[in-house]
Amino acid sequence: MEPIDKLKVLSEDSQYDMACACGTGNDDRRTRGTEGKWLYPVSLPQGGYSVLLKTLLSNACSKDCKYCPLRSETNVKRCTLNPEEVARVFMEYYSRKIVFGLFLSSAVIHTPDHTMDKINSVAALLRRKYGFRGYIHLKVIPGASDAAIAESISLASAVSLNIETPGKKHFDLLSNRKDYMKDIIHPLKLMSRLTSRGMRHSRVKCTTQFIVGASNEKDGEIIKYMTGLYDRLKFQRVYFSAYQQGLGSPEIPGEKRFLSVPEQPFMREHRLYQADFLLRKYGFSGKEIPLDKDPKEAWAEEHPEFYPVRINRADREELLRVPGIGHVTVERILKSRSEINMGSLDKLGLKGKRLEKVRGYVVCE
Ligand code: SF4
Repeated sequence: MEPIDKLKVLSEDSQYDMACACGTGNDDRRTRGTEGKWLYPVSLPQGGYSVLLKTLLSNACSKDCKYCPLRSETNVKRCTLNPEEVARVFMEYYSRKIVFGLFLSSAVIHTPDHTMDKINSVAALLRRKYGFRGYIHLKVIPGASDAAIAESISLASAVSLNIETPGKKHFDLLSNRKDYMKDIIHPLKLMSRLTSRGMRHSRVKCTTQFIVGASNEKDGEIIKYMTGLYDRLKFQRVYFSAYQQGLGSPEIPGEKRFLSVPEQPFMREHRLYQADFLLRKYGFSGKEIPLDKDPKEAWAEEHPEFYPVRINRADREELLRVPGIGHVTVERILKSRSEINMGSLDKLGLKGKRLEKVRGYVVCE
């Protein structure tokens, strides 16, 4: 197969990995560029978006994750790009200013270290042969050796390894060939250590992803693990990917313990992103986050004593706890009230239901 034909297959298969900030809003995390499905829009930390070349190196997997269409026993078209092919295609797009960086993942080709060797080779070619100094996000393969992970970190701008489930109990329902503690938790801790403050590679970002709804995990368990990933391991981002029925095989005979009708995984994915946002941006703790509705509104319902918030006096953190008010609006309030006393909410640019919601929680003296 030509590299471009392999890319067509492999970029399609990489769409379920969100651990690269894919998307710019709404549900465009699952849409791709018109020139090729390997062109992915991603949100930039400073705002706006750009495009990554996002692909798997291979979909020929030796593992057996029950939620994954690429597991070894399925009958899908398999192919593998070689490192020079990936590097060449990437540099072609980069020189045309179509992409700004690379997100490279892979199924497990034979062994984790064999796969890591190929992934690291792509990054080494880009850095050393082509002199590329820009953004490279490498996937760490579960079960990779410490040396292979260290090599990835020395070459990448960001690394990620999917934690998949909150705990071994749930993970063991999904795979017989991966060991949660040894193949996932140990590497996550190593990634955290090698990129911690004061270390040589402290600028390399670490992210991870949960699969939501493939096991029988609860949102509360995910939030507990997510809190640990942020607080103890200092990961930059946690992502969620809703399990999509039909992709994996939850109804393999004898394996009916898997959820055959996942409980609204997209709704859960959305709620978890809301919870994630409250943890990272609003200073909520994991225990403060309710699980069955808009987390901020639910917190407000449980803490009526906190309201109404006084628009002209409240500090930034208090304003951020008002349902319907986000960071942008808070900055607008702080700026406006430094100039004039805000007698109404009219200047905030809020409309309709959102404005009505905010009115219920604030006063403008
Ligand atoms: S390791 Fe598991 S999740 Fe990754 S490609 Fe293989 S079967 Fe799929």
